[in-house]
Amino acid sequence: MVAELIHRFPEKRQIGVGASITSGVKSYDIPPHLRPGGVVSTRVLRSAGYSYRDIRQLHLSGDLVENLRPGWWSLRGADPAVVAAVRAGGVMTCVSSLVKYGVYRPFGDDDLHVRASRGEIRAAATIKNCSPGRGPAPVVAVDHPLIAVRAAIRCLDVENAVAVLDSMIRTRIATVEDLRQELSDLPRGRDLLGRCDRADSGTESLVRVRLRALNLKVRSQVQIDGVGRVDLVVGERLVIEVDSKAHHTDLANYRADRIRDRRLAELGYRELRVTWEEVMFGWEGVEQQILAMVHRGDHHWPRRRAPGDR
Ligand SMILES: [Zn+2]
Repeated sequence: MVAELIHRFPEKRQIGVGASITSGVKSYDIPPHLRPGGVVSTRVLRSAGYSYRDIRQLHLSGDLVENLRPGWWSLRGADPAVVAAVRAGGVMTCVSSLVKYGVYRPFGDDDLHVRASRGEIRAAATIKNCSPGRGPAPVVAVDHPLIAVRAAIRCLDVENAVAVLDSMIRTRIATVEDLRQELSDLPRGRDLLGRCDRADSGTESLVRVRLRALNLKVRSQVQIDGVGRVDLVVGERLVIEVDSKAHHTDLANYRADRIRDRRLAELGYRELRVTWEEVMFGWEGVEQQILAMVHRGDHHWPRRRAPGDR
């Protein structure tokens, strides 16, 4: 099992913290991905070659700082969130685990998502009990992204789940094929993957999912000659640019955007800029505006009159 996990872990995304284990009678190398967040299980230690006696020795010498619960140890500099997940009776999973790998964090989700090792996790207001449905019994303290994502698609609403899947693909945590293999046994997984597309940001994914839910034809990340890539195009020419939270702090960005806006107008495109605040707190107004434009036919190129038409 441990060998399999070593094989499956994305090598470039190691999130191990804490010193490696060096003192004690013997010294075996524990790769960072088997002690993510500076927490290690007795099973990993045993697989690496340590005997129970060695493990006691490592604890006495201070290399294994604390026995968090039977079978789990913290190392120096351990991540408090990972420690909390293990103390609660499980391992970190779902959104909490994916965020550690750099995946989009749904707005307002500050809970600690925990997968129970066996039995129950210790309930607390900020702890969410999440299950991937199936998956190996936890051996490492932070779930592998392909296990965590199974929990996330059950835990999140549709638009945030799609934003997380888009983000996993964008950041190359997983390929579409990886996700298909992992999620194809879940009807919800197949549905969500069908809604995935290219996106520059999580906010943009949310907007795309919402617009497609209105039965609008929406293309994402469209290359327009003389302009560059735009976020979304509704119909033929209604361009929707989704500004991320930090985007306009930069004056150079601001100027570049204005030049793009004028170029789009010159080419006959209609454009709507949507801010992060509007996506999170004022979507209804934006939606009405877009629908009004669509009803007027603003998303189509003006039709040329055929000769003889009035
Ligand atoms: Zn969750």
